[in-house]
Amino acid sequence: FRVHVSPLKGINGEIIGVVGLLRDITERRKLERMRTEFVANVSHELRTPLTSINGFLETLLDGAIEDPKTARHFLEIMNAETKRLANLIDDLLQLSRLEDRKTVLNKQPVDLRDVINGTIQMFKARAEEKGIKLFTVLPDKLPQVPGDHGLLTQVMVNLIDNAIKYTPASGQVKVGVNLNREKVRVYVADTGIGIPQEDLPRIFERFYRVDKARSRVMGGTGLGLAICKHIVEVHGGQIEVESGPGGSTFSFTLPLTS
Ligand code: ADP
Repeated sequence: FRVHVSPLKGINGEIIGVVGLLRDITERRKLERMRTEFVANVSHELRTPLTSINGFLETLLDGAIEDPKTARHFLEIMNAETKRLANLIDDLLQLSRLEDRKTVLNKQPVDLRDVINGTIQMFKARAEEKGIKLFTVLPDKLPQVPGDHGLLTQVMVNLIDNAIKYTPASGQVKVGVNLNREKVRVYVADTGIGIPQEDLPRIFERFYRVDKARSRVMGGTGLGLAICKHIVEVHGGQIEVESGPGGSTFSFTLPLTS
């Protein structure tokens, strides 16, 4: 707390009281700490692929380039790391755009069936390859919701991508919608590895991962869920997760009227 005290004077200048002002600066401190932590995280996340690219590049220049097979292998790794860097930068830019208070959503009536089916199409081949059953359970009638088609598609892409990523072969990923008078609830339920109870409260934080090494191997940036949360919240909805040994269910609500 920061405290401001000023005397309250009477007509003759005598002190008749004190005015105190208490200001809560803990919130500001917390924000500052979060910002510092974020910058440290970003730097670390950018450094990791860069260090790897740099290492392979130097080995190539030191002579490995003479052996075409080794050279090709190194170039492939460098290619993958470069893509990871690009993904990370895209995610960071998107997050900062979403956090910018000046961004106002251009809300249009969005057909959720379209958003969901479009996303399912994108992942069909990958799910099949992994032996995962990817399917939808949608109501016959689905009202349009006020929102941004592209951003809502991105939420679906991130959730379905994770569900497939963290579900072993022969599992299933179910995408569905529940409806009531005021809002829709979209869910993505998987039969995957689940998330430990103690990690659940932090899962939507930027760069939070249950298993850093595994997430990195899978090409994750640790920003996907933070982006989802932002997008859902700028739509006036809420996102949540339930998880147990049988799998995870991510769901978000969207108001039917703006
Ligand atoms: P990442 O890019 O690492 O996937 P996300 O923000 O999308 O980052 O997810 C954060 C972390 O949450 C992941 O690293 C993973 O540990 C966990 N996670 C997300 N979705 C699932 C899921 N469907 N099943 C199990 N774990 C998940």
